[in-house]
Amino acid sequence: MKESLLDIICCPLDKHDLELEVEDREDGEVLEGTLTCTDCGETYPIEDGIPNLLPPDMREEAPA
Ligand SMILES: [Zn+2]
Repeated sequence: MKESLLDIICCPLDKHDLELEVEDREDGEVLEGTLTCTDCGETYPIEDGIPNLLPPDMREEAPA
């Protein structure tokens, strides 16, 4: 995902801003990292450049 996506996405639970912690970056895109909600503190993983913004209780039903 591009870092500018942070301006668009928000916490699915409370719509607050997310804080980005980058673990791996390439050509301006974040490949691996973590998004943390500034309000409720929930974390959302970024895997293979795709932010997983499903609420924690729905993740098990998501396709791999
Ligand atoms: Zn939140």
